[in-house]
Amino acid sequence: MPSSPFAFPDSKRPRVIPVPRFNTDMKAFSPDSSIVSDVIPSANYGDRNKGRPPDMIVLHYTGMPDVEGAIAKLCTAGTDVSAHYIVLEDGRIVQCVPENRRAWHAGVSCWAGEEDINSCSIGIEIVNRGHDWGYPDFPSRQIAAVIALCRGIMLRRDVPPHRVLAHSDVAPSRKKDPGEKFPWHSLANSGVGHWVHPAPIVRGESLKLGAINNNVASVQAAFARYGYNIPTDGKFDGATMEVVTAFQRHFRPERVDGVADHSTMSTLHELLGSLPDEAVTTLST
Ligand SMILES: [Zn+2]
Repeated sequence: MPSSPFAFPDSKRPRVIPVPRFNTDMKAFSPDSSIVSDVIPSANYGDRNKGRPPDMIVLHYTGMPDVEGAIAKLCTAGTDVSAHYIVLEDGRIVQCVPENRRAWHAGVSCWAGEEDINSCSIGIEIVNRGHDWGYPDFPSRQIAAVIALCRGIMLRRDVPPHRVLAHSDVAPSRKKDPGEKFPWHSLANSGVGHWVHPAPIVRGESLKLGAINNNVASVQAAFARYGYNIPTDGKFDGATMEVVTAFQRHFRPERVDGVADHSTMSTLHELLGSLPDEAVTTLST
């Protein structure tokens, strides 16, 4: 469509958030956060397992070409997906599921031995087209909104910084979101998330796909102690590479290659050293 000289450029155009058509008995609810601008109730939610209170935040990107499609997908009955919040590119925040309900955002996931991530977490979808659609940078207004939203949830729900995670952390074999462009360091500057400055990339020994030895087992054990779901069998297999890749997207985004190099392992050990003792995952072996 030819652009009119009188039209706003796309990024400036005020957009009305569309309310999707859906069949649900869910009534509008009061938002849990005072910075929510709209409530669009989703049809997709349930009860938290045994009423478990959430103590984790999982961040996602929507990974769809447009915001309207993303909102429709997350709210319409039958899609079987939802999130508690959607953060738009202009910083507006939509709430779709009350925090005390179980939203369906994480899918098959695991962290620190816990598999029902939807029951223990609050899911936030950040509008971004994602890796399949050009993966634009996250606008600073949007990041400021994510920070403010997370800070409120952390206070209300007593979520510790190391329990603010990426979808890719809890589902490394399936997911990339919110991805290596997501500015975790900016969040950490505001007390959101666990972060250390990544160790510099240097030449030296590394472990990668195909290696089988005791060093691989210790590398795997270190990722498992941080919370990742990874075997500790000493075989650097595809699953191990996916975990290393997920870690790098979050904590060492300068190079995301699935190789356990010195910088990656040094960053992981510094993170482990700064975790509260009770947060280190105990290995079953
Ligand atoms: Zn996701």
